[in-house]
Amino acid sequence: MHDVIIIGAGAAGLTAAIYTCRKKLKTLILSIDVGGQTNLTSHIENYPGTGAMHGVELMRKFQDEAIGFGAELVMGKANKAEKTEKGFKIGLANGESYECKALILAYGKVPKSLGIEGEEKFMGRGVSTCVTCDAPLFKNREVAVIGGGNSAVEGALELATIAKKVYLIHRRDKFRADEITVEKINKNPKIEPVLNSVSLKINGDKNVEGITVENIPTKEKKDFKVDGVFIEIGYVVDTSFVQHLVKVNEKKEIIVDNRGNTSHPGIFSCGDITPVPYKQTVIAAGEGSKAALECYKWLTGGKGAVIDWTH
Ligand SMILES: Cc1cc2nc3c(=O)[nH]c(=O)nc-3n(C[C@H](O)[C@H](O)[C@H](O)COP(=O)(O)OP(=O)(O)OC[C@H]3O[C@@H](n4cnc5c(N)ncnc54)[C@H](O)[C@@H]3O)c2cc1C
Repeated sequence: MHDVIIIGAGAAGLTAAIYTCRKKLKTLILSIDVGGQTNLTSHIENYPGTGAMHGVELMRKFQDEAIGFGAELVMGKANKAEKTEKGFKIGLANGESYECKALILAYGKVPKSLGIEGEEKFMGRGVSTCVTCDAPLFKNREVAVIGGGNSAVEGALELATIAKKVYLIHRRDKFRADEITVEKINKNPKIEPVLNSVSLKINGDKNVEGITVENIPTKEKKDFKVDGVFIEIGYVVDTSFVQHLVKVNEKKEIIVDNRGNTSHPGIFSCGDITPVPYKQTVIAAGEGSKAALECYKWLTGGKGAVIDWTH
């Protein structure tokens, strides 16, 4: 039996593993992939101390450190979680199962996709789902934002401070965002709303060069020449297999206190799967360290040094 199972090998889970391993807890990470969403960015330049690099390269460093400190890694999709007499049992989609005394849920959140041609091909090469992360790459360039809610509308406003032109493409006749934000859009000369329109195809060779959009009532198709396409249509979380154990909010995010404790003793959570604001790699990493330290404290009955800098 492991002391801790961490579900998810993104920034939150791998950081949690570094911390639990350095506390000599026998740690197993179960994950579909290694690196998570950070892998999707070709140019992460806001993770302090490393300089700009590909997200995959940064996550490989996280992985090397976690494994170097003794974490075990098993690839697979967790789809079952149950309480046992001594702790918890996690089942994987391939039928394997693993037991532990404490559990850290760090399995992230996936941006919703449009499912159109070019979207996957150009992900990280002009297509992005994160304005905060990638807007600076589009200085003085033309971009499209797809979506009509607050994140799309606020994203368009943020991009307009950097880009030359922003097309805000939405399938309805008005935006769903707060009125005050929509007013700002209407007053911003750099933003052109494209309403009643669906995106059909993202075009390009190696990088994004444009997007084809169809006007729903007229069926008229139009190509917009853009260097970037920001898909801001929300996120999907799948907390269904743990919802009988931990409380979730209306967005299905796992509710935690400010130390990563969930509503269930012995289960901790961190990163994008929780309601933590400003979903970012550095934030997920920080939250992962907190959840791991809290987990250590719980497993040792509150004994032992919690802060990690007295080695
Ligand atoms: C395109 C893009 C660009 C971004 N750019 C930046 C940037 O430049 N700077 C920045 O700071 N942030 C950026 N972000 C945000 C950042 O990537 C996330 O905030 C961060 O990855 C969250 O880390 P996490 O560990 O909480 O979750 P994730 O990165 O989502 O990792 C979750 C992990 O859990 C695994 N998993 C999921 N479900 C299961 C399951 N059922 N069983 C087992 N494993 C599972 C996944 O395979 C993955 O390894 C970007 C996000 C995207 C999508």
